[in-house]
Amino acid sequence: MYGSCMDEKAVNAKGLAPLKPELDRIAAVKDKSALMEEIAHLHLVGPNALFNFFSNSDLHNADQVIAYLSQGGLSLPDRDYYVKDDSDKVEMRKHLVEYATEVFTLAGQTSQEAAKSAQTVLMIETLLAADSVERTKLRDPKNRDHKMTREEAIALAPEFNLSRYFAAVGAPNFTSVNVSTPDFFRQVNGIVAAMPLDALKTYVTWHTLRGAAPWLSEPFVRANFKMRQALTGQKQIQDRWKRCVNLVDGSLGEALGQRYVDLTFGAEGKQRMLKMVDALEKSLDDDIHGLSWMSDDTKKQAKGKLQAIRNKIGYPDAWRDYSSVVIKSDDLLGNVERTSEFESKRQIAKIDKPLDRKEWGMTPPTVNAYYNPAYNEIVFPAGILQPPFFDKSMDDAVNFGGIGLVIGHELTHGFDDQGRKFDPQGNLRDWWTETDGKEFEKRVSCVADEYSNFVAVDNMKLNGRLTLGENTADNGGARIALAALEHMIADDKTGKEGQSIDGYTPEQRFFLGFGRVWCEKQRPENLRLQVTTNPHSPGKYRVNGVVQNMPEFQKAWGCKAGQPMVAENACHVW
Ligand SMILES: [Zn+2]
Repeated sequence: MYGSCMDEKAVNAKGLAPLKPELDRIAAVKDKSALMEEIAHLHLVGPNALFNFFSNSDLHNADQVIAYLSQGGLSLPDRDYYVKDDSDKVEMRKHLVEYATEVFTLAGQTSQEAAKSAQTVLMIETLLAADSVERTKLRDPKNRDHKMTREEAIALAPEFNLSRYFAAVGAPNFTSVNVSTPDFFRQVNGIVAAMPLDALKTYVTWHTLRGAAPWLSEPFVRANFKMRQALTGQKQIQDRWKRCVNLVDGSLGEALGQRYVDLTFGAEGKQRMLKMVDALEKSLDDDIHGLSWMSDDTKKQAKGKLQAIRNKIGYPDAWRDYSSVVIKSDDLLGNVERTSEFESKRQIAKIDKPLDRKEWGMTPPTVNAYYNPAYNEIVFPAGILQPPFFDKSMDDAVNFGGIGLVIGHELTHGFDDQGRKFDPQGNLRDWWTETDGKEFEKRVSCVADEYSNFVAVDNMKLNGRLTLGENTADNGGARIALAALEHMIADDKTGKEGQSIDGYTPEQRFFLGFGRVWCEKQRPENLRLQVTTNPHSPGKYRVNGVVQNMPEFQKAWGCKAGQPMVAENACHVW
């Protein structure tokens, strides 16, 4: 896979040819019903035109996997880019039209035809965007909880010919499906009905071209990068070998991951991690125990949920078997399509089966971690167990400020604005008393307002509601990680844990470790993109937003009221 990607000369020599069969299939479509069948085929091999179809656990019965339909089909990273008139949004629409015009030209259209095709794409995507639910709204699970029968889903959007679609993607004969965003399907049904077949074919052709562009010849790669450049401000395209490594990680990640953990992951890392997870769980349990605003009833429920959280560290127990995937050394796009088809079919095959709780949602080399509410688990791939998150040669204080805080962050996700709505088994169920729920909302509103006042770039402020779960997890994670460190220092009879190193106290080293984790430099374009689409705050506020809420930080560094890292109205949830 990597070799086929690195053979740039062969890729360039082929030009558009590897995509020709897909383009011909679309060109041959004679009616809208056949187009839906073609979209089904494209969903298997990669391009996600019009909407998304996938599997996930049932919100009300986490042990059971069911089918899902959701909004989709946009080229720009969010609906806001199509419906808002801020200058950066208007600018991106212009870039999208330029990008599409260039790619349609490369695909053989005259410049006039290409310009018209690009306008058709923007027109259709703007209609889809207008009927798409906002990101912030989708954070509330009840806004994506719309389970219905297969027949009801088909009747919701007759123009989609969903029964033909389900057959074409090879879905099992399921009985129910969660249509996360039913209004999207209701409204887009009218768009599909009103739109001429040729316009829809242009739109589908576009998604096919744009999906393949990074893996075609140089002019396509360059056009694709120009769009990325507009969105992120990136000056230079990443070295090809890095793009190829990312491709292998994204398509055959558990095969790559086996070699990765052989080379990098030792038993010592896992042992130290398990010890820290234990310490952090105990610390969160103490925190819940001591909350002044929560009743004993809800505390009991919260502690039960905490106890039920499972953890996964390093890599999966059972590796995914890719032996059925055909990889050819001289067929990059074919490899991309076949690995994508393997994954799509694997996802679809899970529908109506029990949930496989052993599965991982990230590959082992990933430098990240997650909490999954349906599984009620925290997961740490081997990739994050390296500096600056985890450093074997460093003292506990620095590591508690790094990976310890990440563990606390993931645990707190089980109790943030989204996580708190799921029970220990992963079902969407309210286990809070009404008063406690209100107290919680009051406290997270403080966090939402606080972060909404942070300026990311120019006059653009953070979206405190979009980033609420992450900010709550950052704040809670820091508090319980520091508390766990203090416990460890108190329990250490040798007194070694409490000693200063290089002139810094353990508390100071904890905060230095924390600051180092989110040390970053971003271009203004990328900050704008992040604020619009990313539930995480930029690094600066992941650190400053947290420490300004912590009396422990002010004590460690001798900060006084009125100074920048001392919030006037400090927020505190967990
Ligand atoms: Zn998070």
